[in-house]
Amino acid sequence: MAKTLSPVCKLCRREGEKLYLKGERCFTPKCSFEKRSFAPGQHGKTAGRGGGKPGSTGRASDFARQLRAKQKARRVYGVLERQFRRYYDTAITRRGLTGLNLLQILESRLENVVFRLGFASSRAQARMLVSHGHFVVNGRRTDVPSMILENGDVVAVREGSGNLSYFKELSDLAEKRNVPGWLNRDIKEMSGSVARLPERAEIDGSLDEQLIVEYYSRR
Ligand code: SF4
Repeated sequence: MAKTLSPVCKLCRREGEKLYLKGERCFTPKCSFEKRSFAPGQHGKTAGRGGGKPGSTGRASDFARQLRAKQKARRVYGVLERQFRRYYDTAITRRGLTGLNLLQILESRLENVVFRLGFASSRAQARMLVSHGHFVVNGRRTDVPSMILENGDVVAVREGSGNLSYFKELSDLAEKRNVPGWLNRDIKEMSGSVARLPERAEIDGSLDEQLIVEYYSRR
């Protein structure tokens, strides 16, 4: 399983905003971005945001803004470049708006669904739980976090895993986490299902899919 190897808090600092990649820690004073909200590296404090050059106070170029929008989405969902490009290529072939199609594909990844169901505090944690084989999809064990789910697919904690202390304590925690309308959750059964594709309003509003489409359109 391929994953980003950079320290995750650096990714927030690079994007100039909190991406909430570390679950509960992101909401505490331990959050690195709260202490150092400038870009990483030697010229971090003077580096322009949005891809601007160090020391530059000018507005970032169109290309820089498109690149940052794409990088931000990649980092939020924890997807490597090649895989992200493949999702974009699939999004083009679907009916409707390419940008929305792309976001819907990203939201449909198994690790994201586990996170959205409240069974993990972050996508990174969801990825780890899935890759350790703690979930079944439609009754079959899977350890592929990038698996794309479709309408009607059912995700559940694997029977043997339910005895682990993490899952025993999870029901109280999960109840406090909101579930988007495109998913159904049954906390008692520790399961959830995909009711439909998410609408744009149900996806992170800070992502700019139009800029991502522009980024790939010029290449
Ligand atoms: Fe980003 Fe969370 Fe790290 Fe804060 S704690 S910098 S929000 S990943």
